[in-house]
Amino acid sequence: VSGRAAELDAADPLAGFPGRFLPSPDVVAYLDGNSLGRPPAAAAQRLADFVRDEWAGALIRGWTGDGPWTSPEGPWMEWPERIGDRIAEVAIGAAPGTTVLADSTTVLLYKLARAAVDAAPPGRTEVIACTDDFPTDRYVVEGIAAERGAAVVWAADVDEAAALAGPRTALVVASHVNFRTAELADGAAGTAAVQAAGARMLWDLSHSAGAVPLDLAGWGADLAVGCTYKFLCGGPGSPAYAYVRPDLHDVLRQPVQGWMGRADPFEMGPGYRPAPGIRHVVSGTPPILGAVPLVVGLDLLAEAGTAAVRAKSVALTEFAVELYDEWLAPLGVELVSPRDPARRGGHVTITRPGFRAVCDALWARGVLPDYREPDGIRLGLAPLSTTFAEVERGLAELRDLLARG
Ligand SMILES: *Cc1c(COP(=O)(O)O)cnc(C)c1O
Repeated sequence: VSGRAAELDAADPLAGFPGRFLPSPDVVAYLDGNSLGRPPAAAAQRLADFVRDEWAGALIRGWTGDGPWTSPEGPWMEWPERIGDRIAEVAIGAAPGTTVLADSTTVLLYKLARAAVDAAPPGRTEVIACTDDFPTDRYVVEGIAAERGAAVVWAADVDEAAALAGPRTALVVASHVNFRTAELADGAAGTAAVQAAGARMLWDLSHSAGAVPLDLAGWGADLAVGCTYKFLCGGPGSPAYAYVRPDLHDVLRQPVQGWMGRADPFEMGPGYRPAPGIRHVVSGTPPILGAVPLVVGLDLLAEAGTAAVRAKSVALTEFAVELYDEWLAPLGVELVSPRDPARRGGHVTITRPGFRAVCDALWARGVLPDYREPDGIRLGLAPLSTTFAEVERGLAELRDLLARG
């Protein structure tokens, strides 16, 4: 480790956090926190406690909180809203009662986008999406368009999508941080432009939450979804969240009408009546077990504070760009991500022909970034778990591999 990385780690106000994640013995540098966050050490204990005290201890009573035991997060039945409120407060800048935990990002994106298209006035028959957005977002939009006889209008990025919004637009779907380039959109401006055109905006926050401060309430956002297993450290396949602005709760109807989103599910009576508020976005039985580690991840984020997390994230990506300039640019590597940290999320993407094989070689050495077509290596720098020394180790391995040809 050079003096520079050691200096940055020594001055890091969040230096105590990486040690609170479980070690991965054969990993030299974990540079993929934007695909799967590392496990907080407390998550292992919390899972074991949950199985013993809550699952075994409460059994069926866990859903309602009856009997000798109640979960710290309340009866399981309330977890979608309770943990939704926690996400709203800690990660996305939204008010209580606007956010719910359920399903996967893909499924929630479908539910909200479909609801927005269904509720659009006659004549608004177009959905705008971005050609370079995360694949699931594009596929979901295409599926809804086919189902509803709507047209998809493709934009290059969020700015172009917002500019294209007009009298025929029902909905614009876009990521706040682009998964490939880390380009960071202006959430307030994008929302305002789309709303000024009379359309609704659905943000995908998967690559933002836990790295970039979000202010959905301040943006006046209509709709948003995001995943929890990236910077929020919820673990593989942890449930996703959906945000709906309160005045839209009674206007939008999501299409997967299930018993758990019905007013009084245990009445089990004929006909679906949506539960009041955000709850009707829930369809089936909430994914309780998968939410247990997420609570730990959210506690860590709350403890660190969003401002400190963003400052660390910027410092990590700045350091990666600095090492890129010094070591990798001379070897023919190009920087894909914006140089201006104000326009960049929590990862840095670099490119050079042949990077797929290079990424495989890095993995074989215990350096784990990820590879994205075409020829992109993404360095996902999780603010709570990544050290500057780790970034330097990983990029030094990359430099040495390239220098040796
Ligand atoms: C990771 C990610 C997803 C993931 O969707 P899943 O349904 O959890 O597979 C969706 N959108 C974006 C922008 C992502 O980065």
